[in-house]
Amino acid sequence: MARIGALALQGGYDAHLKSIARLGHEGVRVRTPDELEGLDGLILPGGESTTHLKLIDRFQLWQPLDDFARSGKPVLATCAGLILAAQVVSHPTQRSFGWLQVEVSRNAWGRQVHSFEATPDKATPGLEDLSLVFIRAPRIEALGPDTEALVFTRGEVVMVRQGNVFGAAFHPELTPDLRVHR
Ligand code: GLN
Repeated sequence: MARIGALALQGGYDAHLKSIARLGHEGVRVRTPDELEGLDGLILPGGESTTHLKLIDRFQLWQPLDDFARSGKPVLATCAGLILAAQVVSHPTQRSFGWLQVEVSRNAWGRQVHSFEATPDKATPGLEDLSLVFIRAPRIEALGPDTEALVFTRGEVVMVRQGNVFGAAFHPELTPDLRVHR
């Protein structure tokens, strides 16, 4: 059984912890640097990335989170989490960890489709029939050479991996499907 943390400052961490529990693993809420100790993996949930940044500073989590991701342990960053993990953030610009060589634009899917459900046009084998839930999602505008595209929809990359860090613009925790978490 693995111990998987979810950053629990704001946003959709509870649904992620339920997915972890349904996979038979222990889900842990992370609000302090101590709570990162002994974790086998970490989830950065969706929510409001600007609020996440403020709370990360207030709880002195910036350096511990950065150390955790750079230690090579698995990290899954979804939606606002992807914005935090990206190298470059626009619309508007803001600070980010830069674990993933991607450029993301916030809330960039167009007003009338800020939230929508879709299926992949193309995905890594085993993920072709995911149900993709987007909520005011960031758009991945550019990918670096070390970043692997895992899932595409509407002709765009919506899930990536770079080494131990996975980033998804959608919300796998809002469907019963556990493949992304697994
Ligand atoms: N729009 C949010 C942001 O810019 C992300 C939305 C989400 O995480 N569902 O941070």
